[in-house]
Amino acid sequence: MKYKIIGSLMFLYGLMLEGETCKIAFRLDDIQDFWLGEAQRQVIDKFVTYDVPLTIGVIANFFGSDPQIVSYLQNVTTNYPIEVAEHGWNHEDFTHYSYSEQYNKLNQSRFRIRQSLPQADLVTFIPPFNAFNAETLSAMSDLGYTHLSSSVGIDSGPFSNTKPIYHYPVGASTDSFNNNPVGVPASRTLEQIQTQIQTYGWSVVMLHPQEFNNNTTMLFELSILLEQVRTLGCSLCLLRYMHLPPDIFPEGPFPCVSTSGQSTQTGTTGSTGLTGLTGTTGSTGSTGSTGSTGLTGLTGTIGSTGSTGLTGTTGSTGTGKGTTGTKGTRVGVTLAGASTIRPDEESSANVVEAPLRWIVLVMLYLYFFM
Ligand SMILES: [Zn+2]
Repeated sequence: MKYKIIGSLMFLYGLMLEGETCKIAFRLDDIQDFWLGEAQRQVIDKFVTYDVPLTIGVIANFFGSDPQIVSYLQNVTTNYPIEVAEHGWNHEDFTHYSYSEQYNKLNQSRFRIRQSLPQADLVTFIPPFNAFNAETLSAMSDLGYTHLSSSVGIDSGPFSNTKPIYHYPVGASTDSFNNNPVGVPASRTLEQIQTQIQTYGWSVVMLHPQEFNNNTTMLFELSILLEQVRTLGCSLCLLRYMHLPPDIFPEGPFPCVSTSGQSTQTGTTGSTGLTGLTGTTGSTGSTGSTGSTGLTGLTGTIGSTGSTGLTGTTGSTGTGKGTTGTKGTRVGVTLAGASTIRPDEESSANVVEAPLRWIVLVMLYLYFFM
């Protein structure tokens, strides 16, 4: 009898894991004219390069007069999975305004942005300061906006996430998350992503151009982050598609990008191959550990910088990545050590699944034949 109960429970748990999917969206706030234009473009270019969907929040009244950023956005939002979202008329706190004032701001913002980006669908609203209230939701709904992205500190759920307004608040960031846009290592952002996924089943990551301005280290960290999210086994989506089941093809041109958690375990995919490179320079990684500098370990390819301790604080990420490489290419061994992102944390569901299936099979055998 006890076998029957245990077997049934294990089987149900197995089914639960089989059906599990996670989603990740990125949003870049404060897009506007004549302001950190190079940083804005550099960040967006990274997402294009790594084929990761990105939603950009445009401040409507500060946009449309800078030919450089306008023509750049006309190109990338047409040809790549870059979604244009609204981020206020003057970057104002919407909770200070009545329903009709909020309605007018949303409406004129959409009109203004479409003057420069006529193809922009504009169904997502990123409220400035992440602040919104019931009137915001009503005005959005009445204007046909469908997606709101605040932050988990303000909008913590639980959400039914059904029409008319879907809530996808930010729970991770590339900055220090205290209104002080100083960049943080990719490892920290990844931890926040994984924490939010554990709670919500999905994660939204916030970026600002400020933390990447004249900052090659942070641009490099962004590359690491975009490589690493491809190993988590989650779908990467525009905010506007976060609510869709994985098998539903959206009406728009850029569906979610599915990534394989398998790559984390087996190293058979291209992205893990890159990790393999890390492994080869793993010996430098040990240098990293000396000076709490591990950036070295992190990227292998620039292992030589390890001795310089260039960006030491990010070492932990690198080590995690090196570990991944090990399995793929059998060369990352030397990167062992102070890993804060263990492989089992990177895609726990996938790691658990294989042995679990065997346990379920054994339990079923006991159930039927004992
Ligand atoms: Zn903003």
